[in-house]
Amino acid sequence: MQNPSTDAPVPAICSRSEWVKPIGVYVHFPWCLRKCPYCDFATFERPREAIDHRGYANAVIAELDARRDWYKGRLETVFFGGGTPSLWEPAELGRVLEAILERAEGLSPDGVEVTVECNPSSLDGPRAKEFAAVGVNRLSVGVQGLDQSRLEFLGRLHNPDEALAAVRAAIASGVRVNADLMIGIATGFDERVHQAPAEAVREAAVVAELGVSHISAYQLTVEAKTRFGELDRKGKLPLVGDDRMATTFLETSRALEERGFEHYEISNFARPGERSRHNVGYWVGQDYLGLGCAAYGTITTENGAFRYRNAPNPERYLARVEAGQFEPHEREQLDGPTLLKERIMLGLRLREGIDLERAAEECRTEAWTDERRRATRELMSSGRLVQEGGSLRIPRDAWLFTDGIAAALF
Ligand code: SF4
Repeated sequence: MQNPSTDAPVPAICSRSEWVKPIGVYVHFPWCLRKCPYCDFATFERPREAIDHRGYANAVIAELDARRDWYKGRLETVFFGGGTPSLWEPAELGRVLEAILERAEGLSPDGVEVTVECNPSSLDGPRAKEFAAVGVNRLSVGVQGLDQSRLEFLGRLHNPDEALAAVRAAIASGVRVNADLMIGIATGFDERVHQAPAEAVREAAVVAELGVSHISAYQLTVEAKTRFGELDRKGKLPLVGDDRMATTFLETSRALEERGFEHYEISNFARPGERSRHNVGYWVGQDYLGLGCAAYGTITTENGAFRYRNAPNPERYLARVEAGQFEPHEREQLDGPTLLKERIMLGLRLREGIDLERAAEECRTEAWTDERRRATRELMSSGRLVQEGGSLRIPRDAWLFTDGIAAALF
């Protein structure tokens, strides 16, 4: 097998010589039982029995072996996303996990967080236990809502009872559990069928009281290349208004904080010590090795950082692996200013914001350009940004404007 082009492994982007590079691994599983109309992830419809579970695991392990020179550092987290990785036979997913752990240079002293994204239609008690038995210690369940008409509108295959049963099954397996919810959904143009803020609060409370340690509450993003995107272009997609969305966001936040969750990122809530370490890794600019069809990765070497993406189609990905071709489908070198813009965009999503000066040092670029100083002053005077020393953060009531605030700081 041919190795991908390699770079020296030392992560010199950070100047502290004692620093050990933390790294995460993301494994993409590209199949779902049915494609949801709002989803623009690289996913393909396929019945479970038509998936080559073993063949895909073999391909991902072969890719891992070929990318050994990029897989340097202390492994912190492994995330199986998709797609619907809960469709994957646990024994095959377990083989991939074992290979990732075995080949790591070092393991986090806090233990490696291992998450699997699950769809309620492919997670029950026995399956949750099988995942736990192969070393998974966190299950993320796509509940999305607890109202039948909303779930149908979103094209989900499960009903509210099945969603709750999947969360209970995940909790009973003894692992950490996240539930994904979507907030502010309109199933028609009549405002009476727009989700009321109180309804979003009720759903979040029901899920919280089941005993999950983490909740992600997302707003619908209309992506151009989806069925919802097409409907939106024709003016046929109902959406809740900005005011209702803002109220829903703030009331959901308040309700979850009252129940002991910390609102630590725009869309994420965690009980103490239960933040998603993998996602925090993205938000603070940690490297991650991406494996599998359509997976992205970001790797830092002494020659700088680069991002790559694997072939976006499963047949093509598998054929390339079979032929021993591991050059990524796309590869982009990231210079210091580009990296810092990403760090700003992602870091400002966190409650504590970003240590801009430290991030700039790590990215080997300038923290305070004249434009950035001016934008910071303007945003502070309008109450949309707080500066504390070299750090910047957005107050919670301005979180809904994060993208625009970050763009102003570029
Ligand atoms: S189940 Fe998840 S990954 Fe699959 S199509 Fe729906 S939203 Fe996308």
